[in-house]
Amino acid sequence: TNRKYIVGNWKMNGMQAQLSDIAAIAEIAEQHGEIDVAICPPVTLIAAAATKCPQFAIGAQDCHQSSSGAHTGCVSAEMIREAGALLSILGHSERRADQYETDADVKAKAEAVKAAGLGAIICVGETEEERDDGRAVEVVCGQLEGSFPDEADADWLTIAYEPVWAIGTGRVPETSDVKEMHEAIRNKIGKLMGDGAEKVRILYGGSMNGGNAAELLSVPNVDGGLVGGSSLTADKFGPIIDAA
Ligand code: 13P
Repeated sequence: TNRKYIVGNWKMNGMQAQLSDIAAIAEIAEQHGEIDVAICPPVTLIAAAATKCPQFAIGAQDCHQSSSGAHTGCVSAEMIREAGALLSILGHSERRADQYETDADVKAKAEAVKAAGLGAIICVGETEEERDDGRAVEVVCGQLEGSFPDEADADWLTIAYEPVWAIGTGRVPETSDVKEMHEAIRNKIGKLMGDGAEKVRILYGGSMNGGNAAELLSVPNVDGGLVGGSSLTADKFGPIIDAA
């Protein structure tokens, strides 16, 4: 089994005053050397968080696929690395919906992140309508195929399965559905990259909390969690880290 990986996605939450929450989470993570933990705060906090918690992994929530140029409002992988990030989330469903990111964009971003020497967490997941239509596995495998980098390696690449309907809703799929999907993702990664697919970590995301984390994290092929709301304070995130 792979080393567990618990990642907090703060989304558009967090001011300087919340750096103390990152420090408290980093302290808990330090007591759990057997797993990997990271926090992805808004880009405005990356440098300060990395400086305040030099032993702890800070990540970004997105970056541009180009290294520099005329892209108003964007930041590159090199820029977030220089700020102190070690990884970036890519292709989150909120960005696919709100910023119209395509699979091809996500693939290009992953390759840029790799070139900058950072880790990438590529997010995939079906909508409620797609699940109700019985197309969840097909949709997720299609997203994987389109957003998967050419030179994948578990050293830097992680996949996150986040059913859109489970994000921020308090709803979580049946354990059997999580098992089926993570197995399908594992098989798809195997077809896309061949050797080494077993080592690519597959995170579950969507309403994970201290109460359901242990069960979700015990499902085969669930190598960790990508956590939104319950990652904002040590009080809420600590129990998830403990459950891993
Ligand atoms: P919630 O944990 O708030 O449901 O968010 C999940 C998520 O989107 C993490 O990327």
